[in-house]
Amino acid sequence: MAKRIEEDGVPPVHSKALWRALYRGNSDISKRSENLPPPVDRWLGSHLGRDVLVEAPSIAADVKSNDGHTRKVLLRLFDGSEIETVIMGYPGRYTACLSTQVGCAMGCVFCATGQMGFVRQLRPGEIVSQILVANRLLAESGLNPLRNIVLMGMGEPLHNYENVMRAMRIVSDRRGIGIAESRITVSTVGVVPAIDRFADDRQPYNLAVSLHATNDSERSALVPVNSRWPLADLMAACRRYSEATGRRVLFGWTLIDGKNDTPEHAKEVASLLKGMKAHVNLIRLNPTHGYEGRPTDTAAADRFSEIIQASGLPCTLRQRRGIDVAAGCGQLRAGGARLLE
Ligand code: SF4
Repeated sequence: MAKRIEEDGVPPVHSKALWRALYRGNSDISKRSENLPPPVDRWLGSHLGRDVLVEAPSIAADVKSNDGHTRKVLLRLFDGSEIETVIMGYPGRYTACLSTQVGCAMGCVFCATGQMGFVRQLRPGEIVSQILVANRLLAESGLNPLRNIVLMGMGEPLHNYENVMRAMRIVSDRRGIGIAESRITVSTVGVVPAIDRFADDRQPYNLAVSLHATNDSERSALVPVNSRWPLADLMAACRRYSEATGRRVLFGWTLIDGKNDTPEHAKEVASLLKGMKAHVNLIRLNPTHGYEGRPTDTAAADRFSEIIQASGLPCTLRQRRGIDVAAGCGQLRAGGARLLE
């Protein structure tokens, strides 16, 4: 738009005001309620809705968990597609879990998004607008804006690399939304070429890799994409990333009762990640309709965590959040929030 307004004779200095209007505050530029410099306002008047589209998704449903700490919004996009965004409150800070695709092509068996299949990629604006909506809702409740972003909602972020990275550049720009790059975590189930690209591009965001198993047969049964990029390739890419960037990799492990939660599994995790800058994030499985697995009990989860920590690897057992409104990890799907109303 900056290029466009300049081509149309509006002084380029005004593009800053346009950027601020789009990404700062809680205004809706499509209603032209902002106090914009007259040349920009005139330009918007003749282009908005014609060859320039500034749109905000509508909120189709908005549900809060019983403990009040998790809020899930179902957003309807311009073409009627629906995605979910989750806002999680922790003492003094808010984190949003964003979607990056409508549906997902990766087909992880325990995940409600995977169970619905892939529909389409989200555009950069559709990713950014989830943050604008979340910040607006927080402001309406008198709360602080988002501090952290995790790309762990619907979709595989690295399967939509260009759009995701473009969105994150906008989100982290200090002249606008300004969420620190170090507070943004991009998650992947293991798209190996994209991990290499992430490393080559020196993307300044955290990388999280969903592991869930330490051998190919167990992993392929849970995460079908493992057949395409097997564990050895994935681990090699993670090591390359860590060595090239000096950064640690966050490894996610969903604990499923009787499947991947024994002390032997924990020891295998420790040996698989030995020598790598890594952090293991454990989460007990969240239920979905399409998968009959059960969560590991808390005692076994604690034991699993202790074994990994004893090996010298940092490990945390993540609290399950928003389960009662199907806002937990792996529970997001279009229409899910509405079903719970
Ligand atoms: S867990 Fe992530 S990558 Fe796997 S199907 Fe669900 S959304 Fe896709």
